[in-house]
Amino acid sequence: MSGALRFGTSGIPRSSARPGTVHGIRRARELGLDHLEMAWVNGVRMSDESADAIAAAAREHDLTLTAHAPYYVNLCGVPEIVERSRARLEEAGRLGARCGAQSFCFHAGFYGALDGAAASRRVKTELRRVTRALRRKRHSIDVRAELTGKASQVGSLEEVLDWSASVPGVAPCVDFSHRYARDVGQHNRYEDFAATLAAIESRLGRAALDRLHVHISGIQFGPKGERRHEPLRETRFRWKELLRALKDLRVGGWVVSESPCMEDDALLLQKTYQRMR
Ligand SMILES: [Zn+2]
Repeated sequence: MSGALRFGTSGIPRSSARPGTVHGIRRARELGLDHLEMAWVNGVRMSDESADAIAAAAREHDLTLTAHAPYYVNLCGVPEIVERSRARLEEAGRLGARCGAQSFCFHAGFYGALDGAAASRRVKTELRRVTRALRRKRHSIDVRAELTGKASQVGSLEEVLDWSASVPGVAPCVDFSHRYARDVGQHNRYEDFAATLAAIESRLGRAALDRLHVHISGIQFGPKGERRHEPLRETRFRWKELLRALKDLRVGGWVVSESPCMEDDALLLQKTYQRMR
């Protein structure tokens, strides 16, 4: 997959004539996109039959799929919350695999009263359980811990790489806009993006760059990090330099646009990337 990045929206394109993922897949293909992330951020309720129909539509239209697990996940919470969070992740993994998705991402949770090391250890323990459960049931899908946008959320680059290196089946979902917002405006130049990619390669090997799950959006931040996503054309986030770094380092995988402009910005990313030599 090296050097082949596939671009798509988070959720079905706004211009889809009818709701539902199957129609969204068709519309994405009409637009010339080749990927779709199923945005299950508010929960996922789907029959196995619907999942099978999605898998068939994605195959028919040569669209790759990923999923975003519900936001209501906190692997550092009290035991009942952790248990429910694990169940949500396992269900996202099961359904995602049934839809033919190759990867699903999630936000691991909040530090709360824990220090960084303790929170990170807890996440690791829970991710071992999640990946073991998915393996046991033969659901084949990447479990992708997302780089998160707020200082209160577990999921710095270092943490995400540590979980990925220590837990088989876990890999990073690298949200470069979150990295910029989390560190209040840092990591916003070509050299920074290249350094992030180099850190991934040195920790996880070249294969991690050949198959990377990436999120990009315009973003606003405040002192605590991420505030809101915004259109690429309005943002100070230097997404063109990021695309240049992805191109130069021959990164492969999926780029999901999480911009409020949906397909317009997914296409803007795709076209800009394709025009680069
Ligand atoms: Zn996310």
